[in-house]
Amino acid sequence: QIISVSVKSFKSLEITVDDLNQLDLSKFSIKNNDKFLDINAHYINGTTITLILSEEIDIKYECFLFYDNITKNCNYFKLFSSEEFNGRFFTLDELGVMYHKNFSDFRVWSPAATSIDLLIYQNGDPSIYEIPRKFSMNEGNGLWSITVNEDLKNHFYTYNVSVYGNTNETVDPYAKLVGVNGYRGYILDLKETDPEDFHKDIYPNNIDNYTDAIIYEINIRDMSINPNSGIQNKGKFIGLTEENSKTSNHTPTGIDYLKFLGITHVQIMPIFDFSFVSVDEKNPIKYNWGYDPENYNVPEGIYSTDPCDPVCRIKELKKMVYSMHKNGICVNMDVVYNHIFDYKNNCFEKIFPGYYFRYNDDNTLSNGSGCGNDTASEKLMMKRFIIDSVMYWAHEYHIDGFRFDLMGIHDVNTMNTLRHKLDTFKRKIMLYGEGWDLKTALDKAKKVMIPNATKTPKIGFFNDIIRDILKGNTFDRNDKGFISGKDNLENSLELSVIGCTNYSENLNGPFSSPVQSINYVTCHDNYTLWDKLQFTNRNESEELRIYRTKLALGIILTSQGIPFIYSGTEFLRTKEGIENSYNSPDYINWIDWNRKDKYMHVVNYIKELIFLRKNHPAFRMSSIEDIKDNVEFLKNMPKNTVGFLIKNNANNDLWKNILVVYNSNDTSTEIQFPDYGDWNLVVDRHTINEKIIHTYHRNDPYYICLLYTSDAADEGLGV
Ligand code: CA
Repeated sequence: QIISVSVKSFKSLEITVDDLNQLDLSKFSIKNNDKFLDINAHYINGTTITLILSEEIDIKYECFLFYDNITKNCNYFKLFSSEEFNGRFFTLDELGVMYHKNFSDFRVWSPAATSIDLLIYQNGDPSIYEIPRKFSMNEGNGLWSITVNEDLKNHFYTYNVSVYGNTNETVDPYAKLVGVNGYRGYILDLKETDPEDFHKDIYPNNIDNYTDAIIYEINIRDMSINPNSGIQNKGKFIGLTEENSKTSNHTPTGIDYLKFLGITHVQIMPIFDFSFVSVDEKNPIKYNWGYDPENYNVPEGIYSTDPCDPVCRIKELKKMVYSMHKNGICVNMDVVYNHIFDYKNNCFEKIFPGYYFRYNDDNTLSNGSGCGNDTASEKLMMKRFIIDSVMYWAHEYHIDGFRFDLMGIHDVNTMNTLRHKLDTFKRKIMLYGEGWDLKTALDKAKKVMIPNATKTPKIGFFNDIIRDILKGNTFDRNDKGFISGKDNLENSLELSVIGCTNYSENLNGPFSSPVQSINYVTCHDNYTLWDKLQFTNRNESEELRIYRTKLALGIILTSQGIPFIYSGTEFLRTKEGIENSYNSPDYINWIDWNRKDKYMHVVNYIKELIFLRKNHPAFRMSSIEDIKDNVEFLKNMPKNTVGFLIKNNANNDLWKNILVVYNSNDTSTEIQFPDYGDWNLVVDRHTINEKIIHTYHRNDPYYICLLYTSDAADEGLGV
């Protein structure tokens, strides 16, 4: 009948029971560090009993509650969030190893540990037998430190932590260099990891506002592993430094292809060190996306040409970023701070059990991530870790943006603090993520999720509203959306194309600015757009499904907000109907460069759309006021047709007025254009030509973007 016991402060506990009547309060006893603590008072509130102790609980030892023959472990989770705890133990001292030629300082934080030894090795690989040298560390308020007065360059290190009766060896969570598979940290001056001329790296000055960005999601291995990639270093960071790579048809691949497309930012699937269980760096035969974090501040070894050399992975990733920057492309990193691969065997839990993870009221681990654990960003030292880590990547690797996996696990305060810190850089650093409402043990009001978007006004969210409006419900493979021909979605599409901002009483979205809306139709998760269309529009011709794809990306690229394209969508990427390909073989996941050549006409069309967007700031307004002033929806439109005007040289566009019409019908439809102006057609379903495809004469010039799927639409103004 005792549900849970939480330590609330150093001298109080809270017991939750299901039935108070049967309980004899005098039978409670509390044991900590092999002695019983005196209970001074009981307070009862509903089914919660608070016990006040006469002396403090020592958190270096577990605490137990006894009642008759029941024993309950008292959870410290709530105490660790308290001001009382933070006042004693929170630290801003630099953590990790600080290497100098004649000495090195080591610092690690654990108020719970009873002893920590620093272990120094010659080898990075634990399978090589070696007896390490051992140094006892000293504690002050939970901060353990030692100075070793010798040159430890090129040595490896771990910590041997004794806590709650167990002694475990672990890697330093602040390690910046590691040996193979990330078991041991490596000691070196980070300057030695810079490739030649890295200090001359020039950040691409390609956006003034976040809405100027066009994000393209890639995976390091997928980009080059196909036999026809023409890239030498297949599956490696430096594969994306190889310029002039081509397919057998002499069309660009790799970095040249990215440049050709004209996107501004790549978003790269996990490149931090992920678990050796997912992919063994010594024998990388398995495929894995890598959403299995291990060492947050180190690049993954399988993407380097030598995972056993701790410097190689760092130097090669820096080379890749440098090369992207030289080609005018910014690099966004996919970060996964919301959970850890193996909670029991991870450095956080080995160093300070119970601190870094979130618990439910019944003291079970919170699992909103679906990966067995949720990190607790609301804990000050976890918050600090996330912020330190992001700032480190931005500073040391010159990363230009961060995409937070399952951002809904994190708290509003942590993410806003991070945004504020990133604003201290001279360049614009993007911050956005998946703001889903996840079942994590955090107050709803504190979650960084779309319904709370106004609380994080400078942070972007993957917009699942536009995603599902366009192609249908993601989790119901047969459900259609606007582009696949479903009826009655006109109003929802209108909301989508203004970035789901709060535009009017009828069009009232969750976002306070278009900067918050990452507009996408598909990403690495779930079916590719082409595979989804195989389910929803299976009886249609390939040609019509291609028009539907063009319409989908056309809407993404002409909507207000930040467009996001999953690599290969522009050449109808397929994963053969596999919905979650995180560990599927290369031939499912790779970028098929033959397919790119086969559908080059679609690629060229999407590329022209990208340039249209880049040439026209009217599609890239950065405030809701601008959108309200300049966007006007056409009324009385036919079924499955949405049209709007962007007026008044919006956002300093050279075009005075732009008319955009989307028609997803498979038959042509007549619409009444506003009764003024010459009409210069610049976009139809085959061609994009800013020098004008056709002019319909009246008076002032209007520019028309007609995106449609219908067969009979090529004559006159019928769309
Ligand atoms: Ca790894």
